[in-house]
Amino acid sequence: MASVRLENLRKEFGSVVAVKELTLHFPDKKFAAILGPSGCGKTTTMNMIAGLETPTRGFIYFDDRCMNDVPPGKRNVGFVFQNYAIFTHMTVAENIGFGLKIRGVDEATIRREVGKIAELLELTDMLPMNAGRLSVNDMQKVALGRSMIVKPRIFLLDEPFSNLDAAFRAYMRGELKRIQREIGQTMIYVTHDQVEAMSMADYIAVMDFGVLQQFGTPDEIYNQPVNLFVANFIGSPNMNFIPCYFHSQNGQGYLVQKHGNARILLDDRRRQLLERHPGNQDLIWGVRPEHLTLHAEPSQPEYLRATVRFLEPLGPKTVVHLELGDQDTIKVIAHPSYREKTGTVQWIEINPKYLHIFDAKTGLAIR
Ligand code: ATP
Repeated sequence: MASVRLENLRKEFGSVVAVKELTLHFPDKKFAAILGPSGCGKTTTMNMIAGLETPTRGFIYFDDRCMNDVPPGKRNVGFVFQNYAIFTHMTVAENIGFGLKIRGVDEATIRREVGKIAELLELTDMLPMNAGRLSVNDMQKVALGRSMIVKPRIFLLDEPFSNLDAAFRAYMRGELKRIQREIGQTMIYVTHDQVEAMSMADYIAVMDFGVLQQFGTPDEIYNQPVNLFVANFIGSPNMNFIPCYFHSQNGQGYLVQKHGNARILLDDRRRQLLERHPGNQDLIWGVRPEHLTLHAEPSQPEYLRATVRFLEPLGPKTVVHLELGDQDTIKVIAHPSYREKTGTVQWIEINPKYLHIFDAKTGLAIR
């Protein structure tokens, strides 16, 4: 296994800059995800790691060895794509063992290694079957097995589960995580699906327009997003964003809603931070719907008055959409049995621990 280090990596296709000065370190034996919307440069980054694309500038290292001039076949990288690449005229066993066979490994060893991989992927019963008769789900498992058997130093997966049905996708997410932990394989997984990244990865690199936005653990990305893009991209339903400005009065600091009367009292640390912040009249406060609580009465002075617009009952939870002031809407996760009518006045409690503040101009978090 190996760590992967990218240094100022850049890729241009004519006038399109697909990846911009990307510097990242994917640790050895860990599961990392590259997450971002379509076109943000995920696949181009993977292709450069695999050697399928040549960087315009910058460097790729596996451990301490620069790989820029090493051809793809010599990088010892396993690659699994969205479109499973398997031989439909061969059996499952022949498919999985293919990489060893072309390396001239003896039959007994191939049989043993195929058996181990099949067990890991729960494909043992299917080994004698013709691969062309498998379901799409199982074909993708075989494609995984085929890449795993040659024990690549780095395993790259580019949206490998997007063709699978939803239930199997969820199952495979769990399986891949289990397998990665079991064999301690360095894996880099590309996805535009934040749930996939959050549920599987040890580290996530969030990208937008070819630029790295944040690299961190799922916990860091969720709890300490560095900017509005990351805050908005992670979480479903997404974070609430309310335009506001900083106001101080009698030694206290407040965030005041621009399009309404909502006011949030700040702790001393944040008050001092915002006093010094030059753009403090143009801010956005952010809070996730799961970090808000609705009350029927204003039993605490800091509760914010809002009016129910509509409900989204989702089974295990209900998303309540409310009007806050003149123009802002705010979502709150409520109990599944919540059934208040449109127009009902509610009082929102914000846990200040979960309050995020962003500079509206730069989009950067203020901490
Ligand atoms: P998706 O999730 O849709 O695959 P992505 O995040 O993987 O997107 P890339 O495929 O890496 O993004 O593409 C990044 C940018 O580079 C896009 O604007 C894309 O159109 C462009 N691009 C990628 N490959 C080429 C190419 N061979 N020639 C020209 N432009 C390209």
